[in-house]
Amino acid sequence: MCIFCEIINQEIPAYKIYEDDHYLAFLDIAQVTKGHTLIIPKKHVSHFLQADDLMISEIMILAHKIAQQLKDKLHCNGMNLLSNIEEVAGQSVPHFHVHIIPRYDEKDALSIQFNENTDKNIEETYRHIIG
Ligand code: 5GP
Ligand code: ZN
Repeated sequence: MCIFCEIINQEIPAYKIYEDDHYLAFLDIAQVTKGHTLIIPKKHVSHFLQADDLMISEIMILAHKIAQQLKDKLHCNGMNLLSNIEEVAGQSVPHFHVHIIPRYDEKDALSIQFNENTDKNIEETYRHIIG
């Protein structure tokens, strides 16, 4: 069974900050920054693309509430909202989750950097997408 399902089933402990019948939010064990939180659906779906419209809507509304709570309580200066999709994008737990990562300083342990582009043909890409 996946590790997040084990947390849902109370087989392993977590610092839960929100729970209802369908969703759970808890502190990420890594605490990349103070208050780093994960929000998960209780129904196991592997990632963002596997979630249906209702789940996406509800989890984003919940993420918005929890982000506000973290900001009010921890007085961070900003946040990153992140959902990794598949291993190539850094997903290590195959159960859909949204990270909320409070930011205090640009030198926080999290660094998201857009490097020089690798796709030089934006026109062709655009036509590919809309075609
Ligand atoms: P991903 O890399 O899949 O986007 O994020 C998975 C996250 O789950 C990681 O940030 C990792 O620290 C966290 N994580 C993995 N195992 C556990 C655990 O047993 N408990 C908690 N609280 N977080 C976990
Ligand atoms: Zn799971």
